[in-house]
Amino acid sequence: MNRITFLGSGGARVMLSTQVLATGGMIISLDDTHFSLDPGPGALVNIFKYNINPTDLHGIIISHRHLDHSADVNVMIEAMTKSGLVKSGQVFAPSDALDTDPVILRYLRKYLKEITCLLPLSNYVINNLPFTTSMPHHHGNEETYGFLFHGRNTVLGYIPDTAFFPGLLDFYKADVLVVSMLRLEKSNVLHLSVNDVEVIIKSVRPRITILTHFGFQIYQKGPEKIADYLEEKTGLKVIAAADGLEVDF
Ligand SMILES: [Zn+2]
Repeated sequence: MNRITFLGSGGARVMLSTQVLATGGMIISLDDTHFSLDPGPGALVNIFKYNINPTDLHGIIISHRHLDHSADVNVMIEAMTKSGLVKSGQVFAPSDALDTDPVILRYLRKYLKEITCLLPLSNYVINNLPFTTSMPHHHGNEETYGFLFHGRNTVLGYIPDTAFFPGLLDFYKADVLVVSMLRLEKSNVLHLSVNDVEVIIKSVRPRITILTHFGFQIYQKGPEKIADYLEEKTGLKVIAAADGLEVDF
């Protein structure tokens, strides 16, 4: 079964600090591969709420080093590897998350089977699931990549934080698309707004779009209302993530 479990549906400054919405990122199960994607604060605490055992994970993938995407990576490594008793798991992260100002503690790295530095538009394999990185996203100084996960029957896309740029429309050809939609309105902050997401859905035409990583304004407006609005505007299925939501596809 293919499944996304949202360990949190919130993102950015206010949600990270208040935990009004949880910020643990997601657990992806695609074909026979299970991994943590962007384990922000609360990933480890929340994984147990949804009956997922961290030792069953094949690895952890980080899109960029901002805390709401990476703060729990160390405790997740500790749990996944049983504190290094079982050398296991793969971790993938951009170079600035590994070298420049690392978010992954060096003493934990030897617990892992493999640690890989992500490059733009490159191919990787986690367990036996191939995936491709996007071009660098427009997200300030932090090196940021999205992903296409090439399942046997389904391509799953994940668009993490970025300002809108047309290259997104060419790259993210996915059947199921997870989009970080932080902002209600377009702004100079390097994040996607509701209107940006509408443009993306109309162009990519995924079978299912799942909105997540909500900022406070989106939360106040109601993520489900916005999903309904986008579904009406695009004529395609749009779901709002929620803390603990499981989406089977
Ligand atoms: Zn970010």
